[in-house]
Amino acid sequence: MSFPADKWKKDFPILAQIVNDEPLVYLDNAATTQKPTAVLKAIETYYCESNANVHRGVHTLAERATTQYEAAREKVQHFIHAAESAEVLFTRGTTTSLNWVAKSYGEANLQPGDEILVSVMEHHSNLIPWQQLAKKTQAVLSYVELTEEGLLDLDSLRGQLSEKTKIVALAHVSNVLGVVNPIQEIARLVHATEAVLVVDGAQAVPHMPVDVQELEVDFYAFSGHKMVGPTGIGVLYGKRHLLEKMEPVEFGGEMIEFVYEQESTWKELPWKFEAGTPNIAGAIGLGAAVDYLSTVGLVAIQDYEHELMAYLWPKLMEVPGLTIYGPLDTAKRSGIVTFNLDGIHPHDVATAMDMQGVAIRAGNHCAQPLMRKLAADSTARASFYFYNTTADVDQFVEALLATKEFFTHGLN
Ligand code: PMP
Repeated sequence: MSFPADKWKKDFPILAQIVNDEPLVYLDNAATTQKPTAVLKAIETYYCESNANVHRGVHTLAERATTQYEAAREKVQHFIHAAESAEVLFTRGTTTSLNWVAKSYGEANLQPGDEILVSVMEHHSNLIPWQQLAKKTQAVLSYVELTEEGLLDLDSLRGQLSEKTKIVALAHVSNVLGVVNPIQEIARLVHATEAVLVVDGAQAVPHMPVDVQELEVDFYAFSGHKMVGPTGIGVLYGKRHLLEKMEPVEFGGEMIEFVYEQESTWKELPWKFEAGTPNIAGAIGLGAAVDYLSTVGLVAIQDYEHELMAYLWPKLMEVPGLTIYGPLDTAKRSGIVTFNLDGIHPHDVATAMDMQGVAIRAGNHCAQPLMRKLAADSTARASFYFYNTTADVDQFVEALLATKEFFTHGLN
C-alpha cells in the first residue's frame, strides 16, 4: 500500500503509547477520532494569543478571534462545497444539528397526517428528534426497509414516498453496518416529491469527499470530533432558501439585531442560529482539522480505508465462529466492522481485546432498533481510520484469535 499511514500516525501523540503492555491499537474511530498535533496546537495558540469573545469587541484580540472563527466557517464551507459560508451553522455536533432541523424546520412545516421517513439503520440521534416531532405534530414516522444484506432498499423508498412525505432523514454511512447509502440517487427520488432530505453525515465526512451541492441534499449534519477535530463542535449545513425561512431554535445574545421590550429581530444567516457565546476554540480546532484532512486528502483516505478492509477481510474470514453484520462485499462498506464471536459476550470480547492493547467498542452503538432487527442485544465494533496501519490490522486479528482461543479453551 502506498498510503503512508505510518507517517500520519506519528502526528497523533496519543497513539504512541503502550496500553496493557501492548502498543495501543485504536479502533474506536466511529465513536471518536484522535487529534493530530496541528489541531491541538491551533487550539492552544488561539487560547495563548487570541482568546476573546467574537463579533462584539473592537479591540485587537476580539477582531483576531472573530476573524479566526469566521475563517473556520469558510474552511468548512469549502471542505463540503457549500455555495456560501452563510449555509454553514456551527452547532455542538450531529445530534444538535439534527435536533435543530426537527425543531425549527419540522415544527413549522408538518401537519397532522404528514410523513417523516427514516430507516432502521439510523443512529438514535437521527431517530428520536423525528419521533418527538411526529408526536408533537401528529405526523407519521415510517421506516424504509433494508435489504437482506443490510443496504437501504431503494424500491422500498420509492414505494413509500408520496405527497404526504415532508421529511426524509437518512444516514450517509451507517455507524453499525458500515454501508454507504447512495445519497445523490436518494436526493433525486426525494425531490420528485415535496419532501426535504436531511442527511446524517457523522460517519461520512471524516472518510470520503463530500460535496453537498453535488449530493443535492437540503440539510447535512456532522461532528468535529469524528474528523480529528475537538468535541463540542459540529455543523449543520442547510440550503439558504430553507434556512432563511426557519426560526432560530435558541434565543439570546449574539443572534439578535434589535431588541425591544416585547419584540426582537434576528441577525442574518448564519448568526441568527448561533445564540450565546459560541465554541470559538472548537470552531478554530475544526478549521485546523479540515486543513489537516485536506492535506492527507479525502480521496486518498477513502481509497486507503478500502485497501485496509481488503487486507483485513481474508484474515477475518479465518476467525472461527465470527458473525459479521452488514454486507460481506468490502466494496459496499466503509471502515466499520461490527461483529460477534459465537458464545462470547461482546463486552467480554472488548475487555479481552483491551487487555491486548486493542480498543474496540461493544454495545448497541446507539442503534437499538437496528440491533433488534439483527437479533443481537449487543455487538462488538472495530472502526478504522487513515492512521491505522496494516500492523494494527494484524494485531487486531491476532487479539481476536487469542480471545476466541481463551474463551474456548482457557489459558494453556
Ligand atoms: N450519527 C451517527 C451515524 C453517529 O455515528 C453518531 C456518533 N456516534 C451520531 C450521529 C451522533 O454524533 P454526536 O454524538 O457527535 O452528536
